[in-house]
Amino acid sequence: MIETHSGGCLCGAVRYVAQGPAINVRVCHCRLCQRAIGAAFNVRALYAVAKVAIEGEVASAHSSEGLKRGFCPRCGTTIFSMREKLGIMGLTFGSLDQPDDFAPTDHIWVSSKQAWLKLDDGLPQYQEGPPT
Ligand SMILES: [Zn+2]
Ligand SMILES: [Zn+2]
Repeated sequence: MIETHSGGCLCGAVRYVAQGPAINVRVCHCRLCQRAIGAAFNVRALYAVAKVAIEGEVASAHSSEGLKRGFCPRCGTTIFSMREKLGIMGLTFGSLDQPDDFAPTDHIWVSSKQAWLKLDDGLPQYQEGPPT
């Protein structure tokens, strides 16, 4: 049986199923993620766009030229951040049905981490984007 991970928005209008394991799982502390999600940081499981089947209408807005944020137009839940040129999308941990299926492996953009937040999980921290 193929590993799958499902999720959706608060109101249920948007549902998705991702196939297979995530490419990586990271916590992003950048200001764009903070603002787009309205939270202190963004934890996301990265998938190839082709591995994620989405049902329901998704609205989107670009937070930068290469990054599109998808959200439910009815309830506002942020579902993903997508780099269309690279064919990848990060599914937001808050929208997963079972977030505990995953655990992050890195913190990125800690240069803009909120000051009150103390990271003591031992995971690698990167001042800016992830190492290539
Ligand atoms: Zn919704
Ligand atoms: Zn970010």
